Amino acid sequence: MRFKFISGFVMYLALTGGAQAESFEFRVKHDHTLGSCEGKLIASDREIRYEATNGKHSRTWAYIDIQKLDVVSPTRLALKTFESQSWKQLEKDRAFDFSLLEGKITPDQQEFLRTKLGRPMVARLVEKATSSTLLLVRHRHRLGGCEGQLSVEEERLIYLTDHASDNRLWKLREIETIGSPDPYHLRVTTYNETFTFDLKSLLDSKIYDFLWKKIYRLEGVQAGVTE
Ligand SMILES: [Zn+2]
Ligand SMILES: [Zn+2]
Repeated sequence: MRFKFISGFVMYLALTGGAQAESFEFRVKHDHTLGSCEGKLIASDREIRYEATNGKHSRTWAYIDIQKLDVVSPTRLALKTFESQSWKQLEKDRAFDFSLLEGKITPDQQEFLRTKLGRPMVARLVEKATSSTLLLVRHRHRLGGCEGQLSVEEERLIYLTDHASDNRLWKLREIETIGSPDPYHLRVTTYNETFTFDLKSLLDSKIYDFLWKKIYRLEGVQAGVTE
């Protein structure tokens, strides 16, 4: 009896301990193709809710019904659902763009959303790297590219650049594949996109092996990237 109670309690802690309910809300503008409306965007433990001041576009999305969430910048959030626009535009998924009227989305709030979503998000809010494993790179664009640094951490890969919309924070377990045809190139593919990097100096095979093992979940991955 007593054992049952304790194990039940431990289970309760396990379920609630990781991600505390830390819902947050912002005053936002909902951008339409023409014009906009205003309201409150609330991210709670179970769903994202938009309460339009005029009531018209008020909506609630359970996290599981969100196909793609993009933290575009500290003041912009884009959400794509699984619904189709209308019978005429079946190929187009319904999207909602919000701009914050005050305040900023913090990296912590971005991570809160990541833990709630059923699918990988596009996370563009990054903080200064703390890892000692830094690669100086150029991210290739169709024309030219942007320069920055890739920081390899135990569980994350972070691309930091002055070209703010290309900043990314990937969880290694959310990366689908990586590739390196030669030591001066690295390709990172996630569920949402592919980034190809030109490395300014030789890619250490130990770093690549570390990423490979983490991403493909191979056994025996040693803690610590550098020796
Ligand atoms: Zn609206
Ligand atoms: Zn770029």
